[in-house]
Amino acid sequence: MTRKRTSEPYTNSIEPPTYQSASYYFDDADQVKAGLHDLSIPAGRYGRYSNPTWVEVEARLSELSEAESSLLFASGMAAHFTTFVSLLEAGDEVVLPAESYRQVRNVFHHILPKFGIVVHEISIRDPEAFLDGIAALSGRLKLVHLEMPSSPHMYLIDVARIRQIVGDDVVITLDSSFSPPPNFYALRWGVDLVLFSATKYLGGHGDIVAGVLSGRRDLVERIRWYRDTTGPVADGNVAFLLRRSLYTLALRMERVNAQGLEVARFLTAHPRVRRVFYTGLETHPHFKLGQDYLHGHGGVVTFELGLGETETAEIVDRLEVPFMASNFGAPHTLVEQSTFFTYFEYDDAALKSIGVDRSTIRLALGYANESTQVVEDLDRALTGG
Ligand code: PLP
Repeated sequence: MTRKRTSEPYTNSIEPPTYQSASYYFDDADQVKAGLHDLSIPAGRYGRYSNPTWVEVEARLSELSEAESSLLFASGMAAHFTTFVSLLEAGDEVVLPAESYRQVRNVFHHILPKFGIVVHEISIRDPEAFLDGIAALSGRLKLVHLEMPSSPHMYLIDVARIRQIVGDDVVITLDSSFSPPPNFYALRWGVDLVLFSATKYLGGHGDIVAGVLSGRRDLVERIRWYRDTTGPVADGNVAFLLRRSLYTLALRMERVNAQGLEVARFLTAHPRVRRVFYTGLETHPHFKLGQDYLHGHGGVVTFELGLGETETAEIVDRLEVPFMASNFGAPHTLVEQSTFFTYFEYDDAALKSIGVDRSTIRLALGYANESTQVVEDLDRALTGG
């Protein structure tokens, strides 16, 4: 076998090839200097630093979010953790919503304080109280982390007013996993960096775990150094699957937006349902914010029955269409009783602090199901059939 690989037979494929390589070769020492030292020619170096398939999908992700630059990660949590570790130092103060994703809260409460970061948590249930809380900390904060919509209640935040309150020097990050473009364009509202669990709608097929960060180039470059150094990277095949998924993101979102509204309306009218949380319904406490910020309300519908945990479980057990599983953005419809899945470790006081009732059910509509199928199944389960 020769030392050098053969050149590519042709390069006019419409879809770029998927690269799977741990390392990249140079022809001679001059090329090493140009490609590695001066960066005067584009060249690969080593699989932890970059891969042409990531570079391609990162460019698509920047277009999607109207960002200067983007990075792909091994998971949504890897994107979150690397971002916070890159941008924060001992003594910095940060704030996050009490209703943030459980593992993001764990990073803030159990990991970042070990490195001297001071964490403040404020509920977003009352949007004005959240703004007041931020204003009270203003001048002390280095970073504000937001999540919108939040799970399971799909609460929203007046993002533009947060930017007004904190001024230009505070970094605002926002986890938009529940509401990617075209439903919500976080960077249009004063957010510096938008984060996604690409495991959800961006990946869209329930078959990859990945994370994405998009936003200001100067911040992205700081975070890139940490990604290069610590290695929470996705492989070329995941990047390929994500690139393919992005072609259908808008179509999938359009479909789940319609399904979400239809199922939310059905549940609202159902006598066995006490309360429905869907930002497309006027009854959602943050409906007005939704009208300002969102172009669609997504496929996750949360509802409460007002029953005990066991009676609620009996109804969820009767469902035949959704898989009982914790995710969203997949082709299949998924259902989770919130206190059995995400919050199973929370006691009554912890549940009360985030407003989660034991009869809360989160339904994540899958675009491969027809809404009528889901509605009929829900009706049968709720009425005891
Ligand atoms: N952010 C939100 C809102 C999530 O729901 C999740 C996962 O459930 C994450 C972040 C973490 O993403 P991943 O599971 O891809 O690490």
